[in-house]
Amino acid sequence: MKNFYSLKQELTEGTTTCERITSGYLEQMREKKHLNAFLSVFTDKALKRSRAIDKKINSGNAGQLAGLVIAIKDIISIAGERLTCASKLLENYAAIYNATVIDKLNEADAIIIGKTNMDEFAMGSSTENSAFGPVLNPLDETRVPGGSSGGSAVAVASGMATAALGTDTGGSIRQPAAFTGIVGLKPTYGRVSRYGLVAFASSFDQIGPFTLSVKDAALILNVIAGYDKKESTSAKIPVPEYTSFLNKEMKGLRIGLPKEYFTESLNPEISDVILKKVELLKQNGAEVEEISLPYSEYTVATYYILTTAEASSNLARFDGARYGKRAEDFKDLREMYTKSRSEGFGEEVKRRIMLGTYVLSAGYYDAYYRKAQKVRRLIKEDFDKAFTNVDCIITPVTPGTAFRLGEKIDDPLTMYLSDVYTVSANLAGIPAISIPCGVDGQNLPVGLQILGKQFDEETILKVADFIENV
Ligand code: GLN
Repeated sequence: MKNFYSLKQELTEGTTTCERITSGYLEQMREKKHLNAFLSVFTDKALKRSRAIDKKINSGNAGQLAGLVIAIKDIISIAGERLTCASKLLENYAAIYNATVIDKLNEADAIIIGKTNMDEFAMGSSTENSAFGPVLNPLDETRVPGGSSGGSAVAVASGMATAALGTDTGGSIRQPAAFTGIVGLKPTYGRVSRYGLVAFASSFDQIGPFTLSVKDAALILNVIAGYDKKESTSAKIPVPEYTSFLNKEMKGLRIGLPKEYFTESLNPEISDVILKKVELLKQNGAEVEEISLPYSEYTVATYYILTTAEASSNLARFDGARYGKRAEDFKDLREMYTKSRSEGFGEEVKRRIMLGTYVLSAGYYDAYYRKAQKVRRLIKEDFDKAFTNVDCIITPVTPGTAFRLGEKIDDPLTMYLSDVYTVSANLAGIPAISIPCGVDGQNLPVGLQILGKQFDEETILKVADFIENV
């Protein structure tokens, strides 16, 4: 498997073509169909576009991402293509416009190869909540690839695309990246436009790339980041050239290790590999210190109160009247709503909607929703304080490595706890990256997470790139 940066060089030298690269991925898809990573494959369209991009490369006027073959999580709109969110409810729904990230990828001459499987409406940590069957982890097919962007992670980890886009509301890019041994980046909230992304929890959701190298993540972020007048929470902050922060020294960089993240509940095999990398950073001149994020113990509870509240409101639009599936027989409008939603949504989505309406209902609003909003603020202030002393924070991505299919699916609480190290970045709106940093005793990949200040993707990319190359 080759990363985009090396393929780009081969394309410029003329030793390969986009068409050959795309055909290779399509062949892998056929061979590994049982992994169930894709919900739509654009075979003819991708090949046709590859030939067009080859021509552009030959005539020397190709865009920045020419030759990048990319897979898209099936929660991001591509005009005219199915947009299922891995839900029965949207099984036959086609998007009517392009998400901004899709327009940007197209302008940069990327080649979109298909849409990937996921947990229904991005709710889950294992991709077992898809209405179209679970995705298997290519490194051990009895295990999950993580979620909710499991299909995107597997597409990249098993050689079916050079990169993929996923979405991260509470860890859905970083955790599957860690479980499959690749790079996953969640940008700052507001860095990448969410226009055309089906909302799960609007104040948490962010689109980001899965790649085989940190440099590839930087190259893709260069293209997809930036203000979008169609998206009111996208930030009017200039986008730096991210690749210019790579290949740098670590001298003088201040790194924090939060004591609340390195406790006995963390698998020692995971902390060992992470701390080895931290040691290397130290040997190369970084200053490492223990820090405290005192509100860490409340992150999972706060996350699940606020995201279910937002989800219950966002998913109200799927009522059988406007999008996708409508129940076949009903006696009146109310029954049409109830039946369409009951038949269309899966169990986890229903659980979240019920939880969300509960925490928002009169009488419980103050005790749960309002309280959780206040705690969210305190969690954010934990980070603000920490970042006055350190430039970035290193933590684990997950408490364990890839678990077995079926292991947690009947126990939502245990499943929710697998997000314990990732949700804080979304609560605080800060950028975070997961990079592979070794394996556990069973040879399963372990991820390392780097958290940065708001809109300081530069620093986390710089540190990630150093760790990757050292
Ligand atoms: N696993 C988390 C959840 O189920 C995160 C999901 C996500 O980031 N989309 O909510």
